[in-house]
Formats: sequence, C-alpha cells, structure tokens
Amino acid sequence: MEEKILEVQHLKTYFYNGTSELRAVDDLSYTLHKGECMAIIGESGSGKSVSALSILRLVPYPPGLIMGGKILYHGRDLLEMNDAEIQAVRGSQISMIFQEPSAALNPVMTVGDQICENLLTHTDMKKDEAMKRAVELLDEVGIPNPEQRVNQYPFEFSGGMQQRSMIAMAMACNPDILICDEPTTALDVTVQAQVLEQLNKLRQTHGTALIFITHNLGVVARYADTVKIMYGGKIVEDGPTREIFGNPHHPYTLGLIRAVPRLDLPRSHGLHTIEGEPPDMSRIPPNCCAFANRCKYATDECRNRRPELQAVGENHHCACFHMDQLDEERKEVCGA
Ligand code: ADP
Ligand code: MG
Repeated sequence: MEEKILEVQHLKTYFYNGTSELRAVDDLSYTLHKGECMAIIGESGSGKSVSALSILRLVPYPPGLIMGGKILYHGRDLLEMNDAEIQAVRGSQISMIFQEPSAALNPVMTVGDQICENLLTHTDMKKDEAMKRAVELLDEVGIPNPEQRVNQYPFEFSGGMQQRSMIAMAMACNPDILICDEPTTALDVTVQAQVLEQLNKLRQTHGTALIFITHNLGVVARYADTVKIMYGGKIVEDGPTREIFGNPHHPYTLGLIRAVPRLDLPRSHGLHTIEGEPPDMSRIPPNCCAFANRCKYATDECRNRRPELQAVGENHHCACFHMDQLDEERKEVCGA
C-alpha cells in the first residue's frame, strides 16, 4: 500500500446558533495516500466543504467548532498545531482551490504577483526567481503566452483561465495535498474536462494527492481512484471508483448514478433526480438514517437506529440496513 499522508479520524465539526446544534460533519473518517485522487461526492449541504475547511482549520468560529477527532498529516495532528505551524502547512503543503475563482483572486494584483506572493511566503526564493517560476506554472496549467499573461490582471482572464491560475497558485509550492472544492462547477463542460485533465497531469508529475469535491458523480468517474459518498455529514458509502460505479450498495449512491447524464441512453429515458430535498441537517435526529425520509427501502428500523459503515468488499463500505435488497435496482442502473 502507498504511503498514508492524511488520516481523518472521527472528525466532528458542528455549528452553534443560539441553542441549536448543527452537525455539519459528524464522525467522518478516511485515509488519503500519496498521489491518490479521492472524490468526495454528495448533494449541496452534505458537509463536503466544511469537512475540507476543517482540514485547514478555516471553519469560521463562531458559529463553527471542531468538536472532536484527529486530522493526522504525516502522523501529526493538524488540530493540535499552533497558528504558526498551521499557517506553514496552508498553501505550501496542503493547498485548496475554491469554487469561485473571483472570490479567491485579488482583482488589483497581477496574476503573476499573486503566484509570487505564495512563493515568497513559503520558500526562500527571490522575487525574480519567483516570477520565473510563476511563468513556468502558468505554462504547466496550460495558459498560452505565459510571459505576457503573468503581468495581466484577473479580469483579463476568462473563467477557465482564472480557474487555471488558481491551480497554478495552489501548486506553486508543490503541495502534498490539493483540495479542490467544486472547482469546475462554474465552468462549461469542455473547460471542466480540460481543468480536470490538467489536475490529473499535475498529480502524475508531482505525486500530489487530490481531494476532489463535487456534487456530480459523472465528473470524477475517469480520474478518481476512490470515492466517498457523503450524506447528512457522514460517509454513507466508500470504495474504489470502479466498485462504486459497478457495484454500488447504498440507495443514495444508486440515485446519484442515475442522476449522471448518459449519452448512450435515448432521450426519452430522461434524467433522474433523487426525490425529496437534501436534508436540513439541523433537523436530522441523531438515531436514524439521515436518508430514510427519501428512501424507498426505508423501514422503522431506519427511522430508529443509525446504520454504521460495514465492509461489503475489499476497501468497500456501506451504511445501510437494506443493502441486500438492491440487487434488482443495481442491475437496472449498472447493467450485469
Ligand atoms: P456542501 O459543501 O456539501 O454543500 P457544507 O459543508 O457547505 O455543504 O455545509 C454543511 C452544513 O453546514 C449545511 O447545513 C450548512 O448550512 C452548514 N454550514 C456551513 N457553513 C456554515 C456557517 N458558516 N454557519 C452555519 N452553518 C453553516
Ligand atoms: Mg460546498
């Protein structure tokens, strides 16, 4: 097995509003290996972003608080680090790119200066070396004419190029881990594919591990090694990508697979959506399956007891009391 670089253990991140407690991330555990591409998938509000922000200790307090767990980075607990230590990790060893480039790019600084800032903070490079490296980085992420582009401002870039410059910025210090929080949702499909391709190349050349967060299972099918399906702040199914697509066990995973547009099916087949609303997390009772009110297999047991993750195959886990009743639907959705 590859080297473990990040171990999230029983992470709990809650939000407090007056007397109410919202369990945005509720007992989350996973292991990330060197060079792995892990996808975290779930509908809006399932706790994906909060789980990522928790790693870098960027959850706003108040109202957010990390209530428990460990986040071991090369064996050291990020939650125990002091401010100087966590700041040294952020941006150089663990980087994050966000959904909206416009929110992360500074409009009054050139793209080159923004990349340099990261290099000057975290390495002992001089300004002219850093600028040279910025040009290389823009070239690596596929921006044409990087020598000119490096001196331009974000507004002179298209959405796709802004997204790429964010990747360049995040990659500046060769991080071990790059967290991408829905980095392509604002882009059109062709540009999405290009950005993903670029991220994948960077992973292959630098051995960077990727945590790729998205609500769309289809986007990651080609790139992810492993998939975590999140619902209501918890992982409900995880496994190697091929297992998740070929042998899904959770009714919610089946719903997500059905929701992926398919070119090989006639239009009349329609695009499935999962019925009902994603859960309002402040209303999920602690002792039940969070998916129960949208699940056609749900019984009283699901409403009164919380299913735990259990092994269903090699490195494949699922939390559902009724997973053995899914054979027929699985056949329909996945074939064979
Ligand atoms: P996702 O990224 O999967 O769409 P999030 O991780 O952003 O979901 O949110 C998980 C839950 O935490 C949601 O119920 C959301 O309303 C809540 N939440 C996120 N950020 C805050 C915040 N700053 N204050 C209060 N609640 C928040
Ligand atoms: Mg999010």
